[in-house]
Amino acid sequence: MQVSQIFDAQLLNKYNTSGPRYTSYPTALEFHEHFSHDDFKQAIKKSPNRELSLYVHIPFCHTLCYYCGCNKVITRHRDKADTYLEYLAQEIALQAPLFTDYKVKQLHWGGGTPSFLTHKQITTLVALLKEKFVFSDDLEMSIEIDPREIDMDLAEHLFSLGFNRLSLGVQDLDLKVQQAINRVQSTQFIGDFIAHAKTVGFQSINIDLIYGLPHQTLTNFAKTLDKAYEWNVDRISLFSYAHLPNRFAAQRKLRDEWLPNTQEKFALMKLAIETLCNYGYDFIGMDHFAKPNDELAIAQSNGTLHRNFQGYTTKGGCDLLGLGVSSISAIGNSFSQNIKELKAYYQAIETQQHAQIKGVSLSQDDIIRGEVIRELMCNLFLDKNKISQQHNINFDDYFADDLPLLKTFIDDGLLVNTSDVIQVDQKARLLIRIICMSFDAYMKKHINQQRFSRVI
Ligand code: SF4
Repeated sequence: MQVSQIFDAQLLNKYNTSGPRYTSYPTALEFHEHFSHDDFKQAIKKSPNRELSLYVHIPFCHTLCYYCGCNKVITRHRDKADTYLEYLAQEIALQAPLFTDYKVKQLHWGGGTPSFLTHKQITTLVALLKEKFVFSDDLEMSIEIDPREIDMDLAEHLFSLGFNRLSLGVQDLDLKVQQAINRVQSTQFIGDFIAHAKTVGFQSINIDLIYGLPHQTLTNFAKTLDKAYEWNVDRISLFSYAHLPNRFAAQRKLRDEWLPNTQEKFALMKLAIETLCNYGYDFIGMDHFAKPNDELAIAQSNGTLHRNFQGYTTKGGCDLLGLGVSSISAIGNSFSQNIKELKAYYQAIETQQHAQIKGVSLSQDDIIRGEVIRELMCNLFLDKNKISQQHNINFDDYFADDLPLLKTFIDDGLLVNTSDVIQVDQKARLLIRIICMSFDAYMKKHINQQRFSRVI
């Protein structure tokens, strides 16, 4: 891929609108409370998959990062985590018997901050999961880490429990940026921790970076990118800061005049993509980078990349079970979500023996459109004949009302639509979710709502 191809400032400006990130189709906005726990159980029975990806949500954080839009609970009281883990253990004990004929291929802990937990709490939770579920020998086990509040020996501890992938929240290394977002952390410590984790045996380390933060400049962000290269991390997730102060109160602390404008933000994104590609990383999807020998890069090059609630993944044939407050599951032809608020989550576990609050059963149309959107999001390519055969449709007839929406992209040279394929050009890579909106049957309902983040 020619990196220069993907930056056409005029086109990016033209299509820099809001749109879903399509970690699912339909998106979570379509989940509703009529989807019952019995529907969830039926979805398990009907699912053709017998491999499982487990997601465990740990909602606690020590301090509030002002840019954050995650579902989290800020506290310094570790006993809150003890109470949470008791309820989580109950949820695990209630859910695991539904999955006895599944093998867990992937386990991921996210948050919040899973590294908020003490070593003892982590050990107990891993032991419980291993007792209740059947784990595959080639299990991929990953955890998100906040490098501000950990000790060096966390790496040994996690590795001894079977974790083989780490993801560190780095975001930006400049002190002025860090002070503005209330996330001051030591560059030296992060570098030492990554080096140490590799010595311990971790073979895959990811860092998260964000562009568009207050006081970010090309000069200071270049230093952050250089460090990522120096640390020799395997994967980098590069996210655009979505400033939605009306939805996230903490973001009101980030004054408008501190934020880069759209052109400056565009330049930061361009700098990041060019730098990381020059450093030898492959650009994956619309926001990830991986070394060419990383399985994410290999999956992209052989067309087997998949997308789920955790973003781009190689685990396409797995059902996903979310455990913990606010977590999302994708079982067979259904999505469902747990209650988002902590006290209500506790109460639901006690009174109804599950924490599910809403979900959706996919219609045949959802399944077809979901596959089209996933193929385009992952591969920038669609084989119409494959979709037609799989779903017993004629692609062009089925999407007769949607295909005209592609005209503007065709006229701008962003994609080609033949009778056999839809091929998206590299220069539309960053706009892929806007293109996918053409196939989203629910989009008309949301078109005027500020519910989604912008492309850049
Ligand atoms: S960014 Fe991460 S560590 Fe910071 S408040 Fe949000 S969830 Fe917690």
